[in-house]
Amino acid sequence: MFRFLFPNLYVPGIYDIDLEYLRRRGIRGLIFDLDNTIVERGELSWPPELRLWMDELKEKGFAVSIVSNNRRRSAEAVAEAHGIPAVFRAVKPRKKPFLKAIEMMGVSRRETAVVGDQIFTDVVGGNRLGLFTILINPLPGKEFIGTTLFSRQLERLLLPRIWRRHGFSRRPGHDRR
Ligand SMILES: [Mg+2]
Repeated sequence: MFRFLFPNLYVPGIYDIDLEYLRRRGIRGLIFDLDNTIVERGELSWPPELRLWMDELKEKGFAVSIVSNNRRRSAEAVAEAHGIPAVFRAVKPRKKPFLKAIEMMGVSRRETAVVGDQIFTDVVGGNRLGLFTILINPLPGKEFIGTTLFSRQLERLLLPRIWRRHGFSRRPGHDRR
């Protein structure tokens, strides 16, 4: 159980992900968390650099999807407007929403990476299915109260070990490019 808590890769932010490295590992599909991973929680509009980066991913041949525990139709509509297949109201770390996203992307589990800012939803959910998991620093958006009280406290115990394991002596800064 304990091993499910550790990501395969840790980088400060989504723009730090080395796409060539993922390709060499056979990754062809990327599942992104939404809140505080690609946009700050509560933020509906996507910044231009995010849209450009999503386009770049697609141009480079990666399939992209979103799996979010967010329940708001408005956030779902934004993802759809950008042409990204999305599973909302996902109840991560359950397996089902990840499997649905994998199916929508038309890739296999072995070819799928999960990118998210939370250990207990994104990393554990991906690891349970044997997906390649990538943890990033949360963007500084407001957090769901349950997240701050529970998950973030437990994460605090694990993060120094994860940072060290991936070559950072302490918490790297936010990537706000
Ligand atoms: Mg998140």
